[in-house]
Amino acid sequence: MKHDAIRKSFERFLRGRELKLTPQRRRVFERAFATHEHFSAEEFYAWLRAEPGPKVSRATVYRTLGLLLEGGFIQSLDAGRGELIYEHVVGHRHHDHMVCLACGKIEEFHDERIEALQHEACAKKGFQIVSHAHRLVGYCRGCARKLPLEDEAARGDDTGAGTSATSAQAEAALEDQRD
Ligand SMILES: [Zn+2]
Ligand SMILES: [Zn+2]
Ligand SMILES: [Zn+2]
Repeated sequence: MKHDAIRKSFERFLRGRELKLTPQRRRVFERAFATHEHFSAEEFYAWLRAEPGPKVSRATVYRTLGLLLEGGFIQSLDAGRGELIYEHVVGHRHHDHMVCLACGKIEEFHDERIEALQHEACAKKGFQIVSHAHRLVGYCRGCARKLPLEDEAARGDDTGAGTSATSAQAEAALEDQRD
């Protein structure tokens, strides 16, 4: 979808709630779509404060991000930092995330095999899938290298995981099971 079309669609969404695309809301919208980064509401607010443009209060930032989220224009991700991370999804190719527990880095990945397997799993259950979000939690390559060896214990008693799995993979797998 083209940017103008996305903005029109946001405008329609707002009209449905008897809200207008004010200069403040428009600024939040434009900024959210001007980045491919993942951002928290606080980070986002800091960007707006540092950049020129109509003044937007913190409350308006939170409320407008909430509206963008409700309308499906952005998506949120719990990166385990105690605050949600956002990114725009409309006009951006689907992908899933790996979140580093040590440095907070968020890596994106996309694997057609995983996507296809999910659809197969749903078809088997007669489940109509609308969307999904994978969040793999562990340690990025840089942080995994710095992990102390006693983290081997983190592999737990899952003997099957064996020697080939790095502790990061084991952590990610464990975290996945908890979800
Ligand atoms: Zn996916
Ligand atoms: Zn890391
Ligand atoms: Zn992403």
